[in-house]
Order: sequence, then C-alpha cells, then structure tokens
Amino acid sequence: MAEPVGAAAGGAIQDRGTRRPALSPSRASDFKQCPLLYRFRAVDRLPETPTRAQVRGTVVHSVLERLFGLPTDQRDPERARALLAPAWAELQEQQPELAELFDGPDDPELARWLESASALLESYFELEDPRRLEPEACELRVETELDSGVLLRGFIDRVDVAPTGEIRLVDYKTGAAPREIGEAKAMFQMKFYALVLWRTRGEIPRQLLLMYLASKQRLAYAPDETELRRFERTLEAIWQAILRAGRTGDFRPNPSKLCDYCDHKPLCPAFGGTPPPYPGWPEPDPGEESVLDRTD
Ligand code: SF4
Repeated sequence: MAEPVGAAAGGAIQDRGTRRPALSPSRASDFKQCPLLYRFRAVDRLPETPTRAQVRGTVVHSVLERLFGLPTDQRDPERARALLAPAWAELQEQQPELAELFDGPDDPELARWLESASALLESYFELEDPRRLEPEACELRVETELDSGVLLRGFIDRVDVAPTGEIRLVDYKTGAAPREIGEAKAMFQMKFYALVLWRTRGEIPRQLLLMYLASKQRLAYAPDETELRRFERTLEAIWQAILRAGRTGDFRPNPSKLCDYCDHKPLCPAFGGTPPPYPGWPEPDPGEESVLDRTD
C-alpha cells in the first residue's frame, strides 16, 4: 500500500454508522508498522493530505470496476480511457477538497496526471484481457467475525470464481514496483482477505493475485490452511495489542524509514514532537478504511 490515508481523510465517504469496532487490513498494517501511527489515524483521526498518486490510484480502481460493469465486448482500452474523466468527476463530488490537488480544470498538471492514469490502464490491458473474464464481484465489501470475537472488515478489488468453483482474489496496485516491504504489506492484505473469504464461504481461495500496473507485473500466491490459521492468530494478537493500547493510551512510536511518508511526523515524539492529548478509545469504529485506503 502506497502512502495510505487515514480514516479521517475519507470522512465524507465513510459510513461509520453504529457498527462494532473492526480490524481492517490497512489499520492492522498501521499498528504493525507503528502503534502511534495507528493512534493518529484510527483514534485521533487526524486528517491527512492525499497525494496525486493516491488519488490516481482511486480513480484507476474506479475505472476498472466500471469496466467490468460493461458488456464483455466493450471492455477495451479506448472505453477504459473514456471512463477516466467521469470517475474523476464522481470522486470530486464525493470529496470536493480533492479538486485542490490541481490549479483548476485547465491546469496542465491535471492533463499530465490524467495521462499517467491512462498509461496505468494501458498497462492493465497488457496484464490481462478483461473480455475473457466475468468477475463475481468488484470492490466487494467483506466482513467476518473470528471465533475469538475479532471482527474483520475490508474491501476486495475483485473476486473471480472459476466454473469449477475455485476462487481467485485480485488486487490492483497502482504505485511503483514493490520493494520488499511493500510486497510484504500487500501479501498481508491479501491473506487478510483470504481469511475473511474462507471464514464466510468455507473455502480457501485458490489464488491471491497482485497486479502491479506501473511495472506490469503479476504476483500470484496460493494460500494454505495452516498458513491462514497462523495468520488468524496473528490478527487476534494484533487486535488484543490494539485494545490494550486503547485502554491505556500507550501507543508507542516505532521509527523506521517509512517515517518519511508519515504525515504526522511533526507530532511524533521520536522526532521531537508532542502528540495531542489522548482522546480515549473511539466509538463506534476505529477500524474503518477510507476509499483511498482501499486503492493501494
Ligand atoms: S513519524 Fe514514524 S514513528 Fe512517528 S508516528 Fe509516524 S510512523 Fe510512527
């Protein structure tokens, strides 16, 4: 996931409702990376500034979702390009502040940005032919409760089901080629979804497929039961650690090279900052993902 945006940043689109607290892959990754980062995003819900690259990822995901809503013979690169402007317009309607990323509709940077989104779509067509696919679902919201009571929630980019019933989970990555850490994070996210699917449908997905559009790479992985059981215990341990920290407010910073991408560095004690007073454990849901979280 490239430079994820915290829960507060997507506030306009979120439906926090009265749902129970749940763990999402983005927030679980945050806590693993740095408990204080988790606090800033999920508990304090501090706003973050989305980057053009993040927003481009959201728009490209939206186009691919729309593409699969078309009849198969219309799923071509030209049609995909034509879907870009409407997808961008709709996102701005949902989050008007995103328009500030550019200096008006005539900003040449906007044209270049749209062109770069178009290039990602072209790369997509080099990786697979959508006319030969009929996904069961795109942008599928999933939720399950583990035996331990931990609630897992998230969105899967695409679910393919073969005529034989085998399930494949697909995730599009729109950032640059993964380095080791990005790949580990992406696999954590995919195992999360594989576990949720297994627990909701009783079947382990046959394949987890990551499609890196910028580098035109596919990374496929076959999860097994032993691994998913181990992963389940990992998620339970993460959730228990989050609840412990939530009770005490003791969310410690864990500095790493990823701090360079952290919007909250000025508030971080590891860099001489002072966090705001702990607001207490939020209700109802500290784990919801924003629409931008879901893109990468
Ligand atoms: S700057 Fe680094 S250590 Fe501090 S909150 Fe952000 S990720 Fe954590």
